[in-house]
Amino acid sequence: MVKKISELRADFPILDQTVNGEPLVYLDNAASSQKPKQVIQKLVDYYEHDNANVHRGVHTLSQRATQAYEATRDKVKRLINAPSEREVVYTKGTTEAINWIARGYAQKILKPGDEIVLSYAEHHSNIVPWQQVCEQTGAKLVYLDLNKRGQVELADAKQKIGQKTKLVSLAQVSNVLGALNPIKEIAELAHANQAIMVVDGAQSVPHMPVDVQALDIDFLAFSGHKMLGPTGTGILWGKRELLELMSPLDFGGEMIDFVELDHSTFKEVPWKFEGGTQNIAGVIGLGEAIDYLLSIGLDQIQAHEQALMADVLPKLQQIEGFELYGSPDPKDHLGIISFNLAGLHPHDTATVLDMEGVAVRAGHHCAQPMMRKLGVPATARASFYLYNTQEDADKLVDALQKTREFFK
Ligand code: PMP
Repeated sequence: MVKKISELRADFPILDQTVNGEPLVYLDNAASSQKPKQVIQKLVDYYEHDNANVHRGVHTLSQRATQAYEATRDKVKRLINAPSEREVVYTKGTTEAINWIARGYAQKILKPGDEIVLSYAEHHSNIVPWQQVCEQTGAKLVYLDLNKRGQVELADAKQKIGQKTKLVSLAQVSNVLGALNPIKEIAELAHANQAIMVVDGAQSVPHMPVDVQALDIDFLAFSGHKMLGPTGTGILWGKRELLELMSPLDFGGEMIDFVELDHSTFKEVPWKFEGGTQNIAGVIGLGEAIDYLLSIGLDQIQAHEQALMADVLPKLQQIEGFELYGSPDPKDHLGIISFNLAGLHPHDTATVLDMEGVAVRAGHHCAQPMMRKLGVPATARASFYLYNTQEDADKLVDALQKTREFFK
């Protein structure tokens, strides 16, 4: 039976606690989400009944573990509408996935004078790997500007994406502003220039329907721990022909076909990338998380977060000294609101909020170039997910008002 958003909170045992004497209001979902008991139970069941190494065993436990481990690929395929589960590669997270594309693919094909196009809103994990590629190949980084809505501006992209561009890599949703980028249009622009389109889906895949075929992108990276799954899990999806071209980075057991004394042959995609014993339990837990998300529906989750944004953003803006980053329109915030209270360091804001039981993040959010553009060293960030309620949103407003009073 499909669960209503209002009923699913009971699936998250961690939310049922007090912090500093107040009911916990968890608004740090962009950093990591909580896990439903179904995912936790899946991990327990796996370790209690099926735990064994995958692929290389003929015994029953190994076969069970292999079957469950491989089944997650099909779930990911359904989640992002990939053409084949064979295009789904397991990683530790978004960071590892982007690093693999950078080193296994881009570093092989880029030449001096080639350009990689990013935006200055990117997470460090979608900047630093490309800087490394540039150091190794002589390619150059080009940065897109953002418009008032916090999205990359198409007119600017049209100017900057050209014949020299070999690769464009953008977050679909910014982890600082929560704005949604026009990925389909940018992918079209990239392809018109024979460049490939990489998408950082860390903040989009958990919160909205993402269809890699409809977007016509080439690579997608995202993290399991931000979408109800265990830590240490992530996905790299790529078009089959690109994954074939891409070199593995972890050489060793599991990823080989034959090993001679002076050379080896590798398994097919996706297994050639998965060297060594993998995070088997994590991948199985991620499969359960995807089942959970799909049973509710990513469109429902997006609508729920959108309704919360529409309600809470105007209330927040009425708080004296509330400085919002990004667009004032709730539609430009996919569950993420970055802000400061005038005259207060965001760490102080987050500390007082914690005294009220409200968990938000304060800092540069691994996006220092973005902070420089905003002209601040850091912001506070409240980020919502499917289990957050109207009461959570109201508590944030209330606690921020108290913070204001506290420092007056
Ligand atoms: N990109 C974005 C947009 C993110 O929000 C994050 C996580 N904060 C990452 C990449 C990195 O994800 P991970 O730490 O799971 O590798």
